[in-house]
Amino acid sequence: MPDGSLPPSRPLRDADSLAEAGLVPAAALPALRAVAARYAVSVTPAMAALIDPTDPADPIAAQYVPDAAELEVAPLELADPIADHAHTPVKGVVHRYPDRALLKPLLACPVYCRFCFRREQVGPSGGVLSEAELEAALDWFAAHPQVREAILTGGDPLMLSPRRLGQILGRLSAMPHIDIIRLHTRVPVADPARVTAKLAEALESEKAVFLCLHANHAREFTDAARLALRHLSRAGVALLGQAVLLRGVNDTAETLEALLRTMLAHRVKPYYLHQLDRAPGTARFEVPIAEGRALLESLRGRVTGLAWPTYALDLPGGQGKAPIGPDFASRAEGGWTVRGPLGGGHFQADAEPPGPAGAG
Ligand code: SF4
Repeated sequence: MPDGSLPPSRPLRDADSLAEAGLVPAAALPALRAVAARYAVSVTPAMAALIDPTDPADPIAAQYVPDAAELEVAPLELADPIADHAHTPVKGVVHRYPDRALLKPLLACPVYCRFCFRREQVGPSGGVLSEAELEAALDWFAAHPQVREAILTGGDPLMLSPRRLGQILGRLSAMPHIDIIRLHTRVPVADPARVTAKLAEALESEKAVFLCLHANHAREFTDAARLALRHLSRAGVALLGQAVLLRGVNDTAETLEALLRTMLAHRVKPYYLHQLDRAPGTARFEVPIAEGRALLESLRGRVTGLAWPTYALDLPGGQGKAPIGPDFASRAEGGWTVRGPLGGGHFQADAEPPGPAGAG
């Protein structure tokens, strides 16, 4: 760890272990035990090693180390912010959009993020689908030919054994209507040792496989994470990045730019920057949308377009994700006013409709 002490050899799963590792003060224990009794806790050795215990504003600790404020529920917070339950046709499946659906084979994660929108569902007790439940979920995919993309999420699908993951991918790949398999995961950064050659092999498929990596700070990309991502990339997996805009973690132009550039340098194309979903006890992380738009706008033109994510809000009630990023074009009389990312601007007049055939 940055202060010279040794990182733990196992995940820290309760308040007392965090105190023993020097990551929380003993005085905070009573409150943090109450938080840990309510919401799952896990800080992997890889993430604990990155935390500077002398920095009360450490951006890695902010994401994973519980805080007494988690027991305060703000008026607009919802237990199921994007209404997974209302869109669940069979256990383990969430179907919101016509052409894609989620498959949640388990609800365990390597780490438990303090801002997670599924914090009421995820936890180490697993939520693993039984054989029969998994069969029913896969049958649901087989019976819905309009679904072209299967999105494995959870929990974290890379917590499954390579054998189990390979079986699920094999079943989905064999469905003629499934073109894309996407996996949402924290594992390559939070627990990179899990990304073995066997796991990478399990992800090889005839179908297009996208892995959407959740990371929120450049420091999460360690040497071990770099290696894990290379394994995945060599297995033909396309790498995308998603982050949540978080107060105290990536809410300045410098930290956001560093995160996006670091993703790209690790072959991870930034895909989504999420506005925080209002899950219970997460208010301290929220960055207002106006500030998020201004942050992204400050990066436009200065940072390669490859780094540009879609800034999006998942609408409460399961109404889908809407882009909320800065606008550069606005309608004006007879055309569009377009602001330039390097300053200046342009009026793009509407094209004249073509004249009648043979005219002129
Ligand atoms: S890894 Fe994902 S699902 Fe698990 S706690 Fe973090 S945000 Fe939630």
